[in-house]
Amino acid sequence: MPDKKEYQVLLYYNYVHIEDPEQFAKDHLQYCKDLELKGRILVAQEGINGTVSGTVEQTNAYMEAMHNDPRFADMAFKVDEHDGHAFKKMHVRPRNELVTLRLEDDINPNQTTGTHLKPKEFFKAMQDENTIVLDARNDYEFDLGHFRGAIRPDIETFRELPEWVKENRDLIEGKRILTYCTGGIRCEKFSGWLVKEGFEDVAQLHGGIVTYGKDPEVQGELWDGQCYVFDERISVPVNHKEHVVVGVDYFDGQPCERYANCANPPCNRQMICSEENEHKYLRGCSHECRTSPRNMYVQEHGLTEEEVQERLNKIEEEKNQTV
Ligand SMILES: [Zn+2]
Repeated sequence: MPDKKEYQVLLYYNYVHIEDPEQFAKDHLQYCKDLELKGRILVAQEGINGTVSGTVEQTNAYMEAMHNDPRFADMAFKVDEHDGHAFKKMHVRPRNELVTLRLEDDINPNQTTGTHLKPKEFFKAMQDENTIVLDARNDYEFDLGHFRGAIRPDIETFRELPEWVKENRDLIEGKRILTYCTGGIRCEKFSGWLVKEGFEDVAQLHGGIVTYGKDPEVQGELWDGQCYVFDERISVPVNHKEHVVVGVDYFDGQPCERYANCANPPCNRQMICSEENEHKYLRGCSHECRTSPRNMYVQEHGLTEEEVQERLNKIEEEKNQTV
């Protein structure tokens, strides 16, 4: 057995009324700092959504304290072992919404939401003929990994999802709709919105992909690729029965599961790319980003103008060869 890891990463949410999110955020930040946790927590009148890292002791103390608060008494924590912190700082921020949908008529998931399916139930439902599986995440998350056969809405941010559904109604009309997201929070609202829109049979993966991957029975089966996460780990494994790579390298289309952000800060585009291609293309998604005076890759590696030019020439040469 490998050594037990000394740190844990927690992921959690709860839709419950919080009277004064600003004050709560201030107090909670202090509390988390005292515990020496790091991470990101959002607080709104509709509830809390957080992910934090710390030692096993610190994170256990946090979970216990939260469970002692009647508002969070039955809040579910997804716990991952890790070998260090997964964040650099601790933030607790008050927000209007926990997940940005900006609906005209907001949804209270405690009143309106899709049926919650346990991993095993979701696994079975996915394989039913009259079912469609709709990914409720962003395109770059889908591209790194998703349920086999799931629909990829062509959206960059979550708030575009309702509009996408309206435009693609014929794809999902009359079917049983299953939705899923990383930890389950986005689906609480999104599936609620689907119900309100008149879709009759709507269900959601309870606890999200990360719970599905930990379920001892399904063990992530029918998941392809990795699951994108919003911390320094970038991705976590889900399917423990088989590993199918679905990510492809931004530059050469080869199978790849490594993420990097474009080195030009105003662009910052998420790219799946190998280490080799990161160096080759100066971690720039375009010629403009590679030659930008603000290119961080060039700075990080202390490249001279000649060295940059050399790599640009090489890219140009290869381009001409393939034409
Ligand atoms: Zn770029």
